[in-house]
Amino acid sequence: GMAGIGEGFEGWEPPEIDTTVAHSARMYDYWLGGKTHFPPDRALGEAFERAIPSIRTMAQENRRFLGRAVRHLVREAGIRQFLDIGTGIPTGGNTHEIAQAEAPGSRVVYVDNDPIVLAHARALMVSGDQGKTSYIHADLREPEKILDHPSLVGTLDLTQPVGLMLVAILMLLGDEDDPKSKVATLLDALPSGSHVVVTHPSADFNPEAMGAVVTAAKQGHMTLVPRSRDEVAAFFGDWELIEPGVAPVMAWHPEGAPPADPEAAYYWAGIARKP
Ligand code: SAH
Repeated sequence: GMAGIGEGFEGWEPPEIDTTVAHSARMYDYWLGGKTHFPPDRALGEAFERAIPSIRTMAQENRRFLGRAVRHLVREAGIRQFLDIGTGIPTGGNTHEIAQAEAPGSRVVYVDNDPIVLAHARALMVSGDQGKTSYIHADLREPEKILDHPSLVGTLDLTQPVGLMLVAILMLLGDEDDPKSKVATLLDALPSGSHVVVTHPSADFNPEAMGAVVTAAKQGHMTLVPRSRDEVAAFFGDWELIEPGVAPVMAWHPEGAPPADPEAAYYWAGIARKP
């Protein structure tokens, strides 16, 4: 067909991009040094930075973990297909680039609910010997729509293990959205040998600084829920955490020299395998 680009977009009107309120994808892009952000994104991004001066480093550490996680799944678990929910604005080291550099032919389905990510989705689309990707504009709060989407069914083989990426997204769901049951619906749909990757900011490391971030988020009309290590561990359900379990993001299989202060980035990270 259309080299995968049009898949999932038929008959679909892109929603307006709202530049009057901060969006998480654009704030994250701002911290990472990207170019896709507007004044409210920068204002809230800087308010977070006043609470946590190392916020840019934290965003980079989260992103570096994403790379380590994908490499780990390809090398150690033989995963060749990924479902990456909460894609973000394309930047360096996107999931398909990492996976396909390790194992040509790897397939990735990206999902995000932000129209600005959709507007950039073309940059994530490949179809050829190196592999296949597709993009679904959908919401993690409606997991059935993701699982039933023709682009997912057309790209991933759900009889084979999948790497489910939930990296820096679950904190954007309030408890009223019951994120644990949304994740459980996804976990239930995947076959044995699948892995789920989670990172999540937490007040465990620095309660005062994270409290100030939550206050800033509220003022900026953004949902942001830091969660404790136990709450993060609960997202994995009965899947088996691989070593070292739920760890500070910088401490999860660091590449090169171990970090001097692994708790300097206030994120928990973990990967679990479906038995
Ligand atoms: N996973 C990437 C990007 C994280 S930024 C990384 O860690 O590098 C968080 C992304 O999640 C943003 O692009 C935002 O638009 C998306 N997002 C937030 N809530 C969502 C929801 N309910 N459904 C789908 N995507 C969501």
